[in-house]
Amino acid sequence: MFCPGFKDVDAFVKRGLGGVVAATKASGLLPQAGDEFDFYRSFPGFQDFCAVQGERLLHCMSQLMQHHGCRSFMKDRSKLTGLEERFDLVIESNDVILEKVGIMLDEASGVTRSQPVMPAGYQPPRIVVSSWNRKGNDHSGETFHLLHAKNIQRPQLKFKEKVDNSNTPFVAKIFVKPNAIKPLPSCELTERPEDLDVPPALADFIHQLRTQEHMDDMFSHPYQYELEHLVMPEILRSRPDPQLYKPLAETSCTFIETLEDLVALNEKLAKTTEFAVDLEHHSYRSFLGITCLMQISTREEDFIIDTLELRSEMYILNESFTDPTIVKVFHGADSDIEWLQKDFGVYVVNMFDTHHAARSLNLGRNSLDHLLKLYCSVDSNKRYQLADWRIRPLPEEMLKYAQADTHYLLYVYDRVRADLFDAANGQSNLIQVVWSKSKDLCLKKYVKPIFTEESYMELHRKQKKSFNSQQLVAFRLLFSWRDKLAREEDESTGYVLPNHMMMKIAEELPKEPQGIIACCNPTPPLVRQQINELHQLIKQAREIPLLKVSEVLSGFILCSSESTLFGPHDTSHVSESDLMELSLQGSDNHNVPRVILLFLLKEDEGVGNSGHLTVAQQKACSILESFENPFRMYLPSKDIHISKNAKYDPSTKIYEVNIRTVEKTLDPSRQ
Ligand code: AMP
Ligand code: MN
Ligand code: ZN
Repeated sequence: MFCPGFKDVDAFVKRGLGGVVAATKASGLLPQAGDEFDFYRSFPGFQDFCAVQGERLLHCMSQLMQHHGCRSFMKDRSKLTGLEERFDLVIESNDVILEKVGIMLDEASGVTRSQPVMPAGYQPPRIVVSSWNRKGNDHSGETFHLLHAKNIQRPQLKFKEKVDNSNTPFVAKIFVKPNAIKPLPSCELTERPEDLDVPPALADFIHQLRTQEHMDDMFSHPYQYELEHLVMPEILRSRPDPQLYKPLAETSCTFIETLEDLVALNEKLAKTTEFAVDLEHHSYRSFLGITCLMQISTREEDFIIDTLELRSEMYILNESFTDPTIVKVFHGADSDIEWLQKDFGVYVVNMFDTHHAARSLNLGRNSLDHLLKLYCSVDSNKRYQLADWRIRPLPEEMLKYAQADTHYLLYVYDRVRADLFDAANGQSNLIQVVWSKSKDLCLKKYVKPIFTEESYMELHRKQKKSFNSQQLVAFRLLFSWRDKLAREEDESTGYVLPNHMMMKIAEELPKEPQGIIACCNPTPPLVRQQINELHQLIKQAREIPLLKVSEVLSGFILCSSESTLFGPHDTSHVSESDLMELSLQGSDNHNVPRVILLFLLKEDEGVGNSGHLTVAQQKACSILESFENPFRMYLPSKDIHISKNAKYDPSTKIYEVNIRTVEKTLDPSRQ
C-alpha cells in the first residue's frame, strides 16, 4: 500500500488530480469580482460563508506551506499587508515545492545537476538528444526529451540590428503601419514654433506640450486606437460548423527561411479569414530572450518560419496580423503578444485566444494538451516546450512538435466557439467575452526590465532570508553586477548568476575568492571569469558596519543608496525632518510600500569620506555609477540618514534601531 486508502501511487495521483480539477472548476464558477460578487456580498449569509471557507482555505494552504518549510500566511500574518504579498508567498512556495520535485525526479533518474559548462568559442553545433526519467518501460508518451545543442553559435551574432539591452524603456519597433486608421506619429520632433505669432513664453509652453505629446506617442501602443475601435466580426456572432483539420501526415509543412517565401506567405495569409499562430522562444542565453520560431497554420497548410533568419523582415506580416477582417487564433497569447513586439515590431488586431475560451467553458484544465485530447483525441506531449529552439538545422522531431502546436488550432477554435455558443443558449455573449479578453491581450505593451535602485529589494523580499547590513549590501552589489554584466554580454541574469547562488554568496560573505566559487555549483562561466571583481564587491560589503536587522524591521524596506554608502558623506545634516521627508517620498511611490530609514556609517572609519576610499570601494562605486538610471527622479531621496534614535554600541559596532521610536518620529508628518 502506498499510503492509507491508496493501493499505489497512481491511485493517489488520480484522486488528487480529480480533486484539483474539481476545485479549479468550482473556483471558475465563483461570482466575478467587481460584478456579481458585489451583489452576493450584500447578503450576510454569503459573507459568513465566505469568511469561514476563506479561513479554512488559508489554514490549509498555510499547513501545506509549513510542511514544505516555507513562510506561511498564518505565521507572518501581522506582516502581510495585501493580497499582492500573499500572492508572492504562494508563488514562492510553489517555486520551493517544484524545485524539490525537480531535484527528486533528477535523483530518481540518476541525473546529477552539475553539468560541465562548455567554454565559449565556436564549434559546429553538435546535437545531443538525452532522455531522462529512464524508468525502464519505454512508453514514448511518458519520456521527456531534453534536446539541447552544445556550442550553438549565438544567433545574436547574425542579427542585422543589434539587440538593445540598455537600461531604457522599450520603444516600439514599427516604422510602417498597415491597416492604420490613425497614422503613426511623425518621427521628427517638431521645432520650437518660432513663426507663431505669440509671446515667447507661450511659444515655449506650446512647444513643451507638443514635445510631451510626442513622448507619449513614442511609448504608446501603435495600434491602440485601432484596437479600441474594433468591433467583433460578424462571423463570430453565429454558431460555426466545425471544419475538421486535415490529417497531420497529409498536410504540407513549409519551412520558411527566405524573404521571398515570407512575402509569398504573407500574400497567402491576406486571402484567408483566419489562421493560427504560435511562437517558440529561448531565454537562457540572451538578456531579453529571442523568438526562434513562428508556426502558422491555415485550414490547408502549415508553415514554420525561421525567425532567427528573418528577424528583421518579420514586420511585413503586420499586413495580415493587423488586418481587422482576419481572425488570428492563439492559445495562451500573453507572452506571444509581447515577444512579437519585442523582437519583430509585430502587432495583432482581431485575435481569438482558445485558452480564454477554455476558461470560459470551465473545462477545468485549459492547456492546449487538454483541448487537443478533448476535441481531437490527439495525445500531444509538451516535451519539447523547454527545448533549445536555437538549434539549427532543427531536428525532424522538433519540427513535427512545432507544427502540431498550430495544426489543430483552427479546429479547436471552431469547437470552442460552438461550445461557447451552446453554453450561452444560442447567444454570442460568451464568445464576445472571450473575444474581448483576447483584444485586451493585444493591447498589452512589452515592458523592458528596468534596473532601479530598488530592484534588488524586490528580489530580496521574495526570499525568506533576513539579511544583516553586510549581507544586504553584498546582495545589492551582486545584483547590480549581475544586471550590468547580463546586459553587456547579452545573457540572462540566470545564466550569469542564478538567484540561489547569489543568495548563498551574500549570506556567507566568503573571505576568499575560492569561497565564492564554493557557493556556486556548477560555477557559472562569468563568475569564474570575474572572480576578482566579485571578491572585491564582497570585501566592500564586509567593510560596512554590521547592523542587525531586527525582526521588526524585516517587513520593511531598507532603503539605502550607493552614493552615500561609497561616496562623499556628511552625517552632520542628519535630522528627524530629513527622515520624515524620506519616508513621505517613499509612501508616494507605488513600488515602495514604505521606505523607511537609515544608515549607518561611522565617519571616523573613513568609509564615508571620499578621500579615503579603498580600492574595493572605488571599484564598487564606479560599477554603480555606470548605472545612470533614467528614473532617478522618481526614486526616493538619495540622501540616507541615521536616525537619532539609532543607538550605536562601540563594542559590537552595531547600530540598534528601534522601529517604535522611528514610527513615533514619523507619525506627526503623516497628518
Ligand atoms: P508554447 O506556447 O507552449 O508553444 O510555448 C512557447 C514558449 O514558451 C516555449 O518555446 C518556451 O520558451 C516558453 N515556455 C513554455 N512553457 C514554459 C514553461 N513551463 N517554463 C518556461 N518556459 C516555457
Ligand atoms: Mn504559445
Ligand atoms: Zn509552441
